[in-house]
Amino acid sequence: MHPLAKLDRQFVWHPFTQMRDWLKREPVVIVAGKGAVLRDAHGREYLDANSSIWTNLHGHNHPRINSAIQRQLKKVAHSSALGLANEPASRLAEKLVRAANSHSAFRIPQLNKVFFSDDGSTALEVALKLAYEFTRRTRPASRRRGEPPILSLEGAYHGDTVGAVSLGHIDLFHKSYSGLLFKTDKVMSPYCYRCPFNRAKPERTDAREYRQCNWECVSLVEKMFASQKSKGNPYAAFVFEPLIQGASGMIPQPPGWLRRVTEIARCHGALLIADEVMTGFGRCGVESREPRAEDRATRQHPPSTLDPRPSTLFACHHEGVQPDFLCLAKGLTGGYLPMAATLTTQKVFDAFLGEYREFKTFFHGHSYTANQLGAAAALASLEILQSEPSVRARQNLEQTLHDELQALWSLPNVGDIRQVGLIAGIELVRDWRTREPIDLCERAGIRVCEAMVRRGVLTRPVGNVIVLMPPYCTTQVQMRKMVHAVFDSIREVFVKL
Ligand code: PMP
Repeated sequence: MHPLAKLDRQFVWHPFTQMRDWLKREPVVIVAGKGAVLRDAHGREYLDANSSIWTNLHGHNHPRINSAIQRQLKKVAHSSALGLANEPASRLAEKLVRAANSHSAFRIPQLNKVFFSDDGSTALEVALKLAYEFTRRTRPASRRRGEPPILSLEGAYHGDTVGAVSLGHIDLFHKSYSGLLFKTDKVMSPYCYRCPFNRAKPERTDAREYRQCNWECVSLVEKMFASQKSKGNPYAAFVFEPLIQGASGMIPQPPGWLRRVTEIARCHGALLIADEVMTGFGRCGVESREPRAEDRATRQHPPSTLDPRPSTLFACHHEGVQPDFLCLAKGLTGGYLPMAATLTTQKVFDAFLGEYREFKTFFHGHSYTANQLGAAAALASLEILQSEPSVRARQNLEQTLHDELQALWSLPNVGDIRQVGLIAGIELVRDWRTREPIDLCERAGIRVCEAMVRRGVLTRPVGNVIVLMPPYCTTQVQMRKMVHAVFDSIREVFVKL
């Protein structure tokens, strides 16, 4: 066993990992990376097929991001944002505001203030606390009826700090901590493949394409908002991942869902909190989503103006939705350093203004907030992301991923293949004809991913869903290798199961 592996086994406790299983074998110890490739301590190379848990955008060891960090390092690595400003963070805040309000004619409300923090969980904590306090200050009448209520989605995952966990609804992760949490309500999130309202028999294509329903999931959202309003204390905020929910199994929303439910939430006066920790920075594809012709015809709610321009960085904008809080992390620094941002409106900002003695200050902040190295990396990453070659490469890669995935439909244990931009989830089932799920205890997803490691491809499953989320620099040949590894590994595992 490599000495570094021994050190890890002796001293490190890994996240979301059953350490008894971990200690049974030699871990892969990463020592270097270049582009979409990671190298381990034995010199073996792997493709980083989940972009290092959904963070990396342009590949590892990118010369432009490296040199941006090095340039900043020669000046200063970190000074506190409590009481001090700094150059890269101010420049980054301006760039983020511009990106979030591009095509400003359609973007109401404007997001023009940036609160920096450290990771996805803290980006959500900031949004949550701001929304909560903003509501208390601006809706004093409903205060008598209780705390400002919050609505999130079934299967929601917004991070692991206690506030973010309170917004979450995945029993496996969250139930043990229920005694620590505050109450939030949940509402049905569309999961077309397993939706009780979808009357369609299984087909060999993405379940969103062939679903037969009457948008019951949207009606349930409407009912939920109406029922809360009737209690005299309407929802203060609606929290969601736009276009696709990650940690619940890469579950995509049918086109039009996001626009419809956010219009309902707005009509009921709720603030929109968009968790774009996974979906942001181009991960959901380059082109805007057009609603299906049938959706246009049956739409009950007035349309939002859809953004016709390509290169949409944020998932919300694919459906013409502008939230009140835009939570960003993971890809913000191109996957280099931990940094997060919560963007919000002037109106929210103004509610925290006052004389010092009024103590309206937002009493929240982390030691490394607005860190210079992270901000320098983020500025370089954004520049690459918005360049023509990057936009073109993402477009091509999305198509390659789509084309390659088609081969997986021939496997009887593949129930659903869902792709949104450069995110793909492949759901494993007992038999595609029945959609029968596989018991988690059989560790099918884990075993497929272990078999993929042996084929030189790294990813992590979400339950029985295999995730592919390649860095944007992935070549066609590498993309093919990733999908072939999924194909061969599923075959290998299901022969044994
Ligand atoms: N929100 C979403 C949608 C996420 O996927 C994650 C992490 N996977 C988080 C929040 C939490 O981010 P972090 O792990 O950086 O705290």
